[in-house]
Amino acid sequence: MSTIAKPTVKTYQNYINGQWVASSSGETFPVFDPSTEETIAHVASATAADVDKAVKAARAAFDSGPWAQTTAQDRGRILFKIADKIRQNTAMLAELETRNCGKPIVEAEYDLADVATCFEYYGGLANKVTGHVNPVPANALSFTLREPVGVAAQIIPWNFPLLMAAWKLAPAIAAGCTCVLKPAEQTPLTAMELANWFAEAGLPPGVVNVVNGLGEVTGAALVAHPGVDKVAFTGSAAVGKIIVKSAADTLKRVTLELGGKSPNVFFADADWEAAVDGALFGVFINQGEVCSAGSRVLVEKKIYTKFVEAMTEKAKRIKLGPPLDRDTKMGPLVSKEQYDRVTSYLEIGKKEAKTAIGGGRAKAFGKGYYVEPTIFYDVQNSARIAREEIFGPVASVIPFENEAEAIRISNDTPYGLAAAVWTRDIYKAFRVVKSIRAGIVWVNHMQPTYVEAPWGGYKQSGFGRELGPWGLEEYLETKQVFVNLDEAPIGWY
Ligand code: NAP
Ligand code: MG
Repeated sequence: MSTIAKPTVKTYQNYINGQWVASSSGETFPVFDPSTEETIAHVASATAADVDKAVKAARAAFDSGPWAQTTAQDRGRILFKIADKIRQNTAMLAELETRNCGKPIVEAEYDLADVATCFEYYGGLANKVTGHVNPVPANALSFTLREPVGVAAQIIPWNFPLLMAAWKLAPAIAAGCTCVLKPAEQTPLTAMELANWFAEAGLPPGVVNVVNGLGEVTGAALVAHPGVDKVAFTGSAAVGKIIVKSAADTLKRVTLELGGKSPNVFFADADWEAAVDGALFGVFINQGEVCSAGSRVLVEKKIYTKFVEAMTEKAKRIKLGPPLDRDTKMGPLVSKEQYDRVTSYLEIGKKEAKTAIGGGRAKAFGKGYYVEPTIFYDVQNSARIAREEIFGPVASVIPFENEAEAIRISNDTPYGLAAAVWTRDIYKAFRVVKSIRAGIVWVNHMQPTYVEAPWGGYKQSGFGRELGPWGLEEYLETKQVFVNLDEAPIGWY
C-alpha cells in the first residue's frame, strides 16, 4: 500500500478574470479518489451566470485588454514560464492526477512530462506563424494575416485531465486567443492547480478562465454563449453531436476529438513478442480509458488461437493495485459511473463472445472501481462489444482470413480515430496504412503520441486536428489583405 499521507480536503473556486470566485449559487460538488471512493476535494459549481462572467472576461480580454497588444514572442515566453512551473511541480501534479483519476503514478508522470512539453512546443511555435504573399494578377500587393479566432470554449474529459487541458490551452494562448476551460466534473483538480500560476507566468486577467461543473449545465451554457467564437471539445461522440447542434445557432467554429473503436491488426509474420505486448499495451494502458484504445484486436487466423493464449497468459501478469504504488500497472476506473458502464458491457460481452480472461470486478479490492483486464475472443465485428466504445480494459479479439478481410473489418466501424498494423512485410504494412480510414495509423506499435505530430479522427471520431502546427491552425483565422498600388481611379462609372 502507498505510504503517502492523505492531503487535506481542499475547496476549489472557479478561476474567472484572474480571481478565484465562489459559485453564484454557493454550491459545490465533491471530487473523489476512485481507488478509495473517498471525497478528496470540493469544487464550486459554475452556474450559467458564472459562465457568462467567464465568457465576458475572456471577451473583454480579447477585445480590449492588453492581451491584443502582446507580441508572439511575449506569448511564447508566457508558455515557457507555464512549462517551467509544471516541471518544477511535476511530483505534486502527478500525485494529484493519480489520486483524482486513478491512473498509475508512473503513467501520470509520463503525462506530466508531455504536459510541459506541449506548453514548450507551442511556446516555440508562437512566433513562427506567418502569412503568404499572394500572386494576384493586379498592380497590387495581396497578402494574408493570421489572426486569433477569438474566445475559445474548451471542454475536456477525465482520462488525461491535465494533458487534455494542455492540448487545448497551449495552442490557443500561442495564437493569441482567450479561453474558458471546462474540465471534466470527475477530474478538475490539476487544471485548478495550474490556474494558480497563470498570473505569475504573465497571463493578464481574463485570458484563461477555468469553470467547473456538470456538462449539461456549465458545459452547455458555455457552448451556447454568443460571446464564444470557437468550441474545442474532447469526449464522447454523443456529447459531440449535442455540441455541434448547439454551436450551430451562432455558427461557432467547432473542433471535435471524439472516441473510437480502433483496430489493432496482427498478421502472422509480425514479431511475436512485440505483437503480444503491443496487443495488451494498445488496449490496457490507462485502464483502457483511452480514445485511441486498440479495443478491436484483429488477428490472422494462422496465429489466432496461439495469439489469444499468449495474450491471456501475459494479461494474468498485469498488476492491478493502488495507483500510487510504483509497480501498479492498472488502477481503478475513474468513477462509479464509468465502472457501472464498463461492467455492464462485460455482461453483454459474456453473451456475445467467449471470455479468455477477466469479465468482472477485480475482487482483491474491497473499495475502489477496479475492473479486471478482460479479453473476449471469437467476437463478431457486428457485436456491440466490437462496435461501441467501452472506455475500459476490454479487448475484443476478432479473427481474419487475409489482408482484404483485415482491411474490411478495420473500416467496418462508424469511428476512424486510430489503427495499428503489425507485420514484417513493408509492402503489406503500407497497403494497409493507405486503406484504413483513420486519422492516426501506427506500424508495429500502438499509442505513441507526440506533440509534433497531428492528432484527430476521420468519420465519427470528429473533425479538426490537435497538436503540431495543425493544432495551432485551429485557433487562427486567415485575413486576406489587398493593397492597391495603382493610383488611377477604377474608372468603371
Ligand atoms: P462526456 O460526457 O462526453 O464528457 C466530456 C466533457 O463534456 C466533460 O467535460 C463533460 O462534462 C462535458 N459535457 C457533457 N455533456 C455536455 C453538454 N451537454 N454540453 C457541453 N459539455 C458537456 O464523456 P463522459 O460522460 O465523461 O464519458 C462517457 C463516455 O465518453 C466514455 O465512456 C467514453 O466512451 C467517452 N469518452 C471519450 C473520451 C475521448 O478522449 N475521446 C474521453 C472521455 C470519455 P461532465 O464532466 O459533467 O460530464
Ligand atoms: Mg459526463
